[in-house]
Amino acid sequence: MEKEYKKGDVLEVTINDMSDEGLGIGKHDGYALFVKDTVVGDKCKVKIMKAKKNYAFAHLEEVIVPSSFRITPNCKFAKACGGCQLQAMSYEAELEFKENKVKNNLIRLGGFSEEYIESIKEPIVGMEQPFRYRNKAQYPIGYDKEGNLVAGFYAGRTHDIIPNTDCFLGREINKEILECILSFMKKEKISAYDEKTGKGLLRHVLIREGFSTGEIMVCLIVNAKSLEKEQELCSILTKEIPAIKSICLNSNLKDTNVIMGDETRVLWGKETIEDELDGVRFKISARSFYQINPVQTERLYKKALDYASLTGKESVWDLYCGIGTISLFLARKAGKVYGVEIIPEAIADAKENANLNGIKNAEFFVGKAEEVLPEFYEKQKSKASENNDMLHPDVIVVDPPRKGCDEKCLETMLQMEPDRIVYVSCDSATLARDLKILCAEKYELKAWQCYDQFCRTVHCETVVCLNKNFSKPKDYIQIGIDAEDYYRIKESEKKSE
Ligand code: SAH
Repeated sequence: MEKEYKKGDVLEVTINDMSDEGLGIGKHDGYALFVKDTVVGDKCKVKIMKAKKNYAFAHLEEVIVPSSFRITPNCKFAKACGGCQLQAMSYEAELEFKENKVKNNLIRLGGFSEEYIESIKEPIVGMEQPFRYRNKAQYPIGYDKEGNLVAGFYAGRTHDIIPNTDCFLGREINKEILECILSFMKKEKISAYDEKTGKGLLRHVLIREGFSTGEIMVCLIVNAKSLEKEQELCSILTKEIPAIKSICLNSNLKDTNVIMGDETRVLWGKETIEDELDGVRFKISARSFYQINPVQTERLYKKALDYASLTGKESVWDLYCGIGTISLFLARKAGKVYGVEIIPEAIADAKENANLNGIKNAEFFVGKAEEVLPEFYEKQKSKASENNDMLHPDVIVVDPPRKGCDEKCLETMLQMEPDRIVYVSCDSATLARDLKILCAEKYELKAWQCYDQFCRTVHCETVVCLNKNFSKPKDYIQIGIDAEDYYRIKESEKKSE
């Protein structure tokens, strides 16, 4: 009879895999156990907390033999905090884990062979220092159990604040800024917001830094339209931290988990700070979307540009373009770029950023990629006499959210038949699913590479390059060989016959 597992069972298990959420996975007689705070290679004693038919979630009781990849986390809050899942793993092992995850998804969900995927892989790009990379941090403000005013991070799966003003992913200066604000609040008896009662004032402190300019923005998110003595706080902050160039107050009066409200007022200095990525300048406001790891973003986007192989005259679509980061990178090397993005404010930023950089060959459209692209295609197709490069562009770049591209969007991309497609993805499962559709006939996966943008967490970015392959013959095998090689082989076979 099969063994039954139940809550409270204590078992010994060796962790040999990791879930997408960063839980270690070990098997006990074929029964899968998901264990938080373990590392691949750990032999440990675990206690079942929740048992299902084929798997259970278990609590780590004791590491019996630690994995050779196990390290002591830099941050003493690593275990309790919900932020980093991979702090107990060496950074080399983390990079390998991430690359393997992407590779396995490409094989399992994309339908590519392992040999092929290996043969076109470019090695994962990690950071020299996998810490202090975030240019943005949002600290909740509240009280600890003793009623002391604290700033920090939510503990995993709860809204209890772990007091920590020095998160290792963020900048060192955040600590100074937060402590300055906390001591001002204590002195002036300004209250922190309480989620349970909906009372109290300061909810969050948002800090952003333009790494290349050194400019800092502080935004106070307040359950009111103003703060008492707000100008006094501004003068203390700017005197102590001269790099602060903007202080804003965002009012959020709602009983909600959403951090920011709709109204933002400048209390001191500029409305935006600036940053530069590979020579392109960006204005960033309190609400703008902006990549949080500029060092790795610049590397990733340079790679996307490299995969796009632009010579200066190409027509390019950039779908899911956000504030136009990739679009503006591309525009400098292309003939014409069209960006599409669902959020109107992001498109307003994209247009402003294009102006700021004197870029005139980029146009932006608000809407869903799966609507804007098909509408454009249908409308222009009927005017076929007009020569429209954007109907059959040279390149389409996509950088969708985790759910990947909509099928209608993929379908239109296939109809538009660009020479190249560059897909930037933050979720390799949906990437692989979409590649299966794109590579079914017309396109060939030419190369892929991972970029670790979110070090110490389970998330990872991937960029892939697809080439159009019109001449793909029926008996062509996708695996490990491209059309050119195929014909070369066929030719030499003919010659030797
Ligand atoms: N490339 C951008 C950001 C990509 S993040 C940059 O570098 O800044 C994904 C973006 O897709 C987000 O800005 C999100 O608002 C947008 N988005 C989500 N669903 C969309 C859809 N259906 N159509 C177009 N854009 C969408």
